[in-house]
Amino acid sequence: MIEYDFVNMPIVDIVNRIILFASKHNASDIHFDPREDCMIIRMRMDGRLSDHARVPKMYEKNLTTRVKLISKMNITETRIPQDGAIKGVIDGKELDMRVSSLPTNEGEKIVVRLLDYSSSLEGLSVLGFSSNNLKKVQRMLDIPNGIILVTGATGSGKSTTTYSMLQELNTEDRNIITVEDPVEMNIEGINQVHVNSEIGLTFASALRSILRQDPNVILIGEIRDSETAQIAVRAAITGHLVLSTIHTNNSLSTIERLLDMDVERYLLSTALNGIISQKLVRTLCPNCKKLRPTTNYEKQIFSKILGKKIDKVYEPIGCPKCNKGFKGRMAIQEVLFITDRLRELINDETVDKEDLRKAVYDNETKTLLQDALIKVIEGYTTFKEVYKVVDIDFDLEKQIRKSIELEEMKKMKLEDLDVIDAYDGILSNLKEMISDIKEIKKKAKDFAGSQYKKKKIDENGVEIIDAFEEKEITNLINKYKDIIKNKTNVNEISNAQKKKTTKKEVQK
Ligand SMILES: [Zn+2]
Repeated sequence: MIEYDFVNMPIVDIVNRIILFASKHNASDIHFDPREDCMIIRMRMDGRLSDHARVPKMYEKNLTTRVKLISKMNITETRIPQDGAIKGVIDGKELDMRVSSLPTNEGEKIVVRLLDYSSSLEGLSVLGFSSNNLKKVQRMLDIPNGIILVTGATGSGKSTTTYSMLQELNTEDRNIITVEDPVEMNIEGINQVHVNSEIGLTFASALRSILRQDPNVILIGEIRDSETAQIAVRAAITGHLVLSTIHTNNSLSTIERLLDMDVERYLLSTALNGIISQKLVRTLCPNCKKLRPTTNYEKQIFSKILGKKIDKVYEPIGCPKCNKGFKGRMAIQEVLFITDRLRELINDETVDKEDLRKAVYDNETKTLLQDALIKVIEGYTTFKEVYKVVDIDFDLEKQIRKSIELEEMKKMKLEDLDVIDAYDGILSNLKEMISDIKEIKKKAKDFAGSQYKKKKIDENGVEIIDAFEEKEITNLINKYKDIIKNKTNVNEISNAQKKKTTKKEVQK
């Protein structure tokens, strides 16, 4: 935690310092959280939030007002959420930030998102694509028309990948237009349109106008509804290259999602060029990472998913150069290039999900999990990081757990198994005895009850009914006697043995 001198330092300087600190440490967000007794400033670095500073309640209002002022928000309005932006130079550093405010019961909460697309400007090669995946992306970009989709959850680095692709396409012979909500990074030479649904400028309506502007390449910030999906597909089959993002998990679910959005099969199969699915994992600090032996479970996963025998992987340690053994993040990817064969299958409605899945994940397409595990073997990230973001198929997980159990059982010594057998025998005898005793008790109770009933009825001069099944209960009691007799036998035997040993000892 950092201590700011709220008493002596002007609030303008404190806000500048906070922002500069975030920027220097590559934080992605700054949170100003009002609490009951103070305000907590938190920063998100490599995807994790941690406390940065504490602001006494009396300075909270000044601080939020200053942040809202430089974000060009209405500082007199505190009851409704607002959006703003900070663009400018602080201490010689050029900064681009999106700011949002939210009224809460403890006061106004403000979040500042620092947009850092410096990696987008360095091109596709720095985004962590495997060489095979990078080749596939280049091939997609070489096709002058069609759709390329980038998929993943919020905060999976979709924008960085999309901007990097746009940057590759940004040559003077192309007319590139984007429609975004919001425009996340200004790119020289590109026409960017900011969606504003309040005045009716939606993705769909903006797209219709854009198509009349003779574009070569169109970037649609996100496909959220079927209208946008349909316009995007139509634009793609009429000679435009369309880049967009969609909120799905992998290639297969993206195809299904678009079909659910009422995009017609024949149009989709013609328009789609490729799908890039991605997630972010933290990268190991190269300065302190250490090798450790793989666990039984990890071994099985590597063997089942990659067909490789892996005995050692890296684990995080932590040093002054990193954050608990991690430094920065990288993307894990699944890149699907749509082949003619896949086009046929997508177009064919008789093809079921399983067949489509098999065709999508042939030898050419590495799944997110495969790509991630390769990055674990190469020492970029850890098994745990991957496990956190990628779902391991439930059936596979069950299969692996079972085979580990079997293996452990095989390792048990034969004597252990004998003991278990003997124990099982004793247990089943005991169970039988208990159920017999219960039965006898019940019968005896019934017997007592019927005797009582008999007596009562007798007094009233009514005919006697003998409900007692004497024979059955006698049988049970005899059986119980046998059990007790056996037990006595066991006692006798052990007593005899005891006597023998005592005798021997005495003889000695
Ligand atoms: Zn380190």
